[in-house]
Amino acid sequence: MSFTVAIVGRPNVGKSTFFNRMLETRKAIVDDESGVTRDRQYGVADWCGKNFNVIDTGGFVPDTADVFETEIRKQVRIAIDEADALIFMTDAATGITDLDDSMADLLRRTTKPVFLVVNKVDNGDRLLEATEFYSLGFDRVFFISSMSGSGTGELLDAITELI
Ligand code: GDP
Ligand code: MG
Repeated sequence: MSFTVAIVGRPNVGKSTFFNRMLETRKAIVDDESGVTRDRQYGVADWCGKNFNVIDTGGFVPDTADVFETEIRKQVRIAIDEADALIFMTDAATGITDLDDSMADLLRRTTKPVFLVVNKVDNGDRLLEATEFYSLGFDRVFFISSMSGSGTGELLDAITELI
């Protein structure tokens, strides 16, 4: 089991909520021994008998504006290097922000598969609004609610198809 998926995205879009939900069916959490920095969490997801590593990024983000953006860029670059596929998480409640745009620019440059995940699609109105995220130009777009779990199964199906 060596396939690794990293979750990137600006703060508060719901990365950790989704990460924790994925690990509900976990076989193991491998945090203690991997020499991890404290801004990343590592886990193992199990979906329909297929296991893969998951990295949740951005647990620790300094709060000055400049450092903030630099730090997020750094994390995206590390994630692209480290992972076999990326989850680029965004937030339907806020819509596309400038930081989403700059992260999208970085992520469009990788040849690795990127899943654009629009989170917080909790209801039908949100789904209509969320279609603006197609404009970011990714082929794989998923609308989910990490809170309710809606849409997460299709996303996990699509990820495990790559394994
Ligand atoms: P992170 O900074 O990207 O890791 O985001 P968190 O997972 O810490 O979530 C940030 C906030 O968004 C928390 O208050 C979550 O409860 C909330 N949140 C996460 N997923 C959803 C969702 O699907 N719908 C709604 N309405 N809120 C969510
Ligand atoms: Mg988090």
